[in-house]
Amino acid sequence: MRLVLAAALAVPPAVLVLASGAPPGARISPGAAQGPAAESPSPVVDALEPADLVARIVREATARGRAHELLTGLCEAAPHRLSGSPGAAAAVEWGRQTLVDLGFENVRLEPVTVPRWIRGRTARFQVVSPPEAAGELATIALGGSVGTPPGGLVGPVRAVRTFAELDALGERARDAIVFFCRPMERTSVDAFAAYGAAVPQRTQGAVRAARAGGVAALVRSITQRLDDVPHTGALRYEPDVPRVPGAAVSTLAAERLEALLERHGEVVGRLELDCRDAGEVPSWNVVGELVGRELPDEVLVVGGHLDAWDVGQGAHDDGAGCCQSIEAVRLLADLGLRPRRTIRVVLFMNEENGLRGGSEYYRTHFEEMDRHVLALESDRGGFAPRAFVTDAGPRGREVLEEVVALFEPYDAGRLLAGPGGADVSPMRGAGVVTVGLVPDSHRYFDVHHSASDTLDTVHPAELELGAALMAAFLYQVAERAERLPPNPRIGR
Ligand SMILES: [Zn+2]
Repeated sequence: MRLVLAAALAVPPAVLVLASGAPPGARISPGAAQGPAAESPSPVVDALEPADLVARIVREATARGRAHELLTGLCEAAPHRLSGSPGAAAAVEWGRQTLVDLGFENVRLEPVTVPRWIRGRTARFQVVSPPEAAGELATIALGGSVGTPPGGLVGPVRAVRTFAELDALGERARDAIVFFCRPMERTSVDAFAAYGAAVPQRTQGAVRAARAGGVAALVRSITQRLDDVPHTGALRYEPDVPRVPGAAVSTLAAERLEALLERHGEVVGRLELDCRDAGEVPSWNVVGELVGRELPDEVLVVGGHLDAWDVGQGAHDDGAGCCQSIEAVRLLADLGLRPRRTIRVVLFMNEENGLRGGSEYYRTHFEEMDRHVLALESDRGGFAPRAFVTDAGPRGREVLEEVVALFEPYDAGRLLAGPGGADVSPMRGAGVVTVGLVPDSHRYFDVHHSASDTLDTVHPAELELGAALMAAFLYQVAERAERLPPNPRIGR
């Protein structure tokens, strides 16, 4: 692999516009694809070994990284940015203005129609019987849920850990509030595996409850932490199945409710939600580029999702991924590294409750999918980077293994096998290789989709290192003389 570093001191000022330490608002380049594209790389840095180049990027990010500063700006400008909300519109404007201020090229908004769901003011679950156990539990509506009738709905609480247990309830499920109480298991390494195992009770609980004759689904929050903060997230309805409301209770509340059922046998609850569906509204993906030096039509996408649940600040999910994506490209530009191919930042809208941004990007850019070399997503929290994951076939994987091995000194030298992320997943259909940044996952689900997902839980050094490794990864692939081999197209 040949590396080219247009080092700050060796490149004419016109090329290296964003010099190290440049003030905020400095430009990546004075114009679009002109000027910089014609420059030849510096012979001085041409000789830089790949590992030294990575070290250079990491040093820069450690000393002057701006991912955390960007994330602070996003969390202040648009803390609650569920699709279609005023917060989401503010986030779009923040993204556009940020890319413009940083001097990204070809900054634009690409239209996406998104669902709008309004949480409302009331999410309450109360134990009403037996009278000595009466009281309220910490509750939150699941995203997309229908509301209850005014005053709420009342029914016996039936606890199940699995869908099989629900089926076994038979008539006892009728008119019941079905309580899915399976805890998210503790894990040694990969919390995502435990999340994947537990999350169907949230996504499918309402449909399963309705099919069994129940009137609502009440779910134990999908988190390993034991506290009183309930976690939201999307539920899905199906055509032909009555839409019953779905809500989550905190893990402590779930344990209290289980204990009550154990003690009293029969517990009656009341669930009241005033959330509602508000149709579809226009929104946008935010796009900006560092145009390639020699092969500007070949594109590497890097991104995260700009929407977030409307509790907390969406700092980890996925403000972190958006800001790391922006910062990765800013770092390269700041170091005078304009690779052969274009790197395109995409801040996707509506990952959380529809994936419309990812789907629309794929549709809008379908004609140029064969020129998409790779799509990298960061959407697993802003924690210390530990690995990358990719769905690349054997030939592409060989290349990426070489790249990721460079991250060994930063404890992130492993390349796992799997899809890169939700927003970039539609592109897999066209054979685009997807990649994901994989950070440490132990603390992610403590805050995920809850009021606890706030800026103070993001450690700047962890966030900046992730951005630095993303920058190094993108550069290595974008700069290669030979294009990364694509995957086979799926189903076409
Ligand atoms: Zn996310």
